Amino acid sequence: MHPLLEVKNISSSYGNKLAINDVSVNLEKGEIGCLLGPSGCGKTTLLRTIAGFKDIVSGDILIEGRRVAAEAFSVSPEERGVGMVFQDYALFPHLNVQENVAFGLKHMKRSEKKRRVGDLLSVIGLEQVKHKYPHELSGGEQQRIALARSLAPRPRLLLLDEPFSNLDVNMRELLSMEVRKIIKQQNTTGLVVTHNQHEAFAMADKIGVISCGRMLQWDSAYNLYHRPCGSMVASFVGEGVLLPGRVLDDHLVECGLAVLKGRFSSSCPVGAMTDILIRPEDVVHEDESPLRAVVVHKTFRGPNIIYTLCLSSGDAVLALFPSHYRHEIGEEIGIRPEVKDIVLFKRDHEELRRPQEVNPKSMLHNESECHYNV
Ligand code: ATP
Repeated sequence: MHPLLEVKNISSSYGNKLAINDVSVNLEKGEIGCLLGPSGCGKTTLLRTIAGFKDIVSGDILIEGRRVAAEAFSVSPEERGVGMVFQDYALFPHLNVQENVAFGLKHMKRSEKKRRVGDLLSVIGLEQVKHKYPHELSGGEQQRIALARSLAPRPRLLLLDEPFSNLDVNMRELLSMEVRKIIKQQNTTGLVVTHNQHEAFAMADKIGVISCGRMLQWDSAYNLYHRPCGSMVASFVGEGVLLPGRVLDDHLVECGLAVLKGRFSSSCPVGAMTDILIRPEDVVHEDESPLRAVVVHKTFRGPNIIYTLCLSSGDAVLALFPSHYRHEIGEEIGIRPEVKDIVLFKRDHEELRRPQEVNPKSMLHNESECHYNV
């Protein structure tokens, strides 16, 4: 059995500038993938190459084992069996809901078409608005109609380009879980572009982090968060800091927080200088602990508060405590590190990102501008 989608080392360019550079993606039938990355990194271009709206300059794209794109070769979008949902819904304003959903079903018999539209409206929970026009519906409802319209012809693969970006935060989260359920229920395969990692976590079986046209890591959400392949991925997925450290032996590394003992994510020679990824949940609150830190910043998040703490080494860490622990800025508190899997990166970066209040040495580093030329 072939994977449903195989994108093999493709590159695509605008003029002489590569927008996608040697990218690979794999999806099995029924899986949902998400493409995550900063603005301009190439997410939409990648989606468009898969849909057939953009040519590739090298590599191969296969859908169910059939080559649909290669250098100087492209199967037309209509022949790829791919559906697409855009961020602006793109519903036809002069057609009502059921006519919009039926749009791609021209080849079907009337009774069959009616059944398919009815089934999809029931799946998205909007049977009651079938006679309404797009302007009479909320953004969330319009997006669900757009999804139903794309699913109606039973595409093998559904591509969604920032489908929730016009919706408010609560609606985004709700709809991303709903869309996952609907895609799974329809037994199709999905690839979703998003800026938002919470959406990606809610929807995806696999997530790809793209930066400057390159796929940095294509992996499960768990691995991206706990086993990021580099500091770029670590900084893009979740929160945390990189603390400078030194390897003492196979399981021991020292840094401004403590001497940490655990499994290393990658092997590092004894004595090597490294950056150690410390996530906010790796720092536990413990009043009696001899390890002290000063609160320099805090952000209330409802059930918990994220604190920026300054260590005696001058380094800063983030700590996530339940919000019933209330500490003031300037207060000294007791903490304990609880790091089981120790993620280490070779020290190789210059640019560092940080909130204003903390030591510039320690925060995860920022995306930097980059261009690749063909
Ligand atoms: P966003 O999240 O902002 O939508 P993106 O990750 O989807 O961005 P793309 O739209 O794929 O990024 O763009 C990738 C790069 O290609 C960017 O540098 C962009 O400026 C460039 N680009 C996109 N479309 C064109 C075009 N039609 N002509 C020339 N350059 C383009």
